[in-house]
Amino acid sequence: MSAVTVRVPAKVNVQLSVGGRRPDGFHDLATVFLAVGLYDHVTAAPADGLRITAAGRDVARVPLDATNLAARAAVALAKRYGVEPDVHLHIDKDIPVAGGMAGGSADAAGALVACDALWGLGAPREELLALCAELGSDVPFSLVGGAALGTGRGEILTPLEVGGEFRWVFAVAEGGLSTPDVYRECDRLRRAGGGSDLAADLAAPGADPALVAALREGSAPALSAALSNDLQAASVSLRPALAGTLAAGLAAGALAALVSGSGPTCAFLAPSEAAATALAAAFPAGAYPALSPAPGATLL
Ligand code: ATP
Repeated sequence: MSAVTVRVPAKVNVQLSVGGRRPDGFHDLATVFLAVGLYDHVTAAPADGLRITAAGRDVARVPLDATNLAARAAVALAKRYGVEPDVHLHIDKDIPVAGGMAGGSADAAGALVACDALWGLGAPREELLALCAELGSDVPFSLVGGAALGTGRGEILTPLEVGGEFRWVFAVAEGGLSTPDVYRECDRLRRAGGGSDLAADLAAPGADPALVAALREGSAPALSAALSNDLQAASVSLRPALAGTLAAGLAAGALAALVSGSGPTCAFLAPSEAAATALAAAFPAGAYPALSPAPGATLL
């Protein structure tokens, strides 16, 4: 087969409830993922051996060796089916790197779908989802897209209904934030506040019924009232300038503002297309309008 291209969406967590730290180091989560129309494209072409190239935004920060999540996905799929991981993966990046929008996870899901097609494996959806979960907590959602409740580490997905379109503006920040660092800061802030950061001491988080209803109704005002991110205080603690970014978006007409995932990208819910354009103009250093929900990994 000749080259195949898969389009993969970014995500924003409209709810990110973080439980205590588990003995395995992960945190129990209840998170509501929403896929947004900001995409990477992963192209798989025949090659001798495994080769990774990348282009687009932040490309200098994308590793081009075996640590690239797309490379890891190709190797995992090849191993599972007993084939050689012979593929040239080219990643065209539009999703900010280390921005809390699951860019690497999207590329992993894209590589699985692209290599499955290139190698003619016909892997069942459940098999691809199981490989996604092994690759990372956010990877299964990148495959399915739309909206979903994620529990466990975020990898156990329950699809959610979305009754309308939501309009976002994402303000990107200089430099990324490491997701493990942000979780460590969240734990530290909990202990510093006199509480515990351990799963044994904290109630397991659950979905917020008001947020789930807002998505089902497609109501931007209701969604803006229900947005929550337990990692936001930790992201702002590590990157105090984010407080100013969030305030600037609200001053420029956003219905609501929150840090996307572990940050540092900030997400603003806009009441209209005109408001989104005005919001984006408030961030000359880089802001990207996008609609949600968006479909998951799609073979073009
Ligand atoms: P999440 O929201 O899932 O926590 P993120 O969007 O904050 O993730 P990524 O863009 O996935 O972060 O990048 C995190 C790190 O992963 C990067 O700093 C980079 O070194 C590494 N990485 C590995 N593969 C990729 C990839 N395909 N694209 C971008 N970064 C990658």
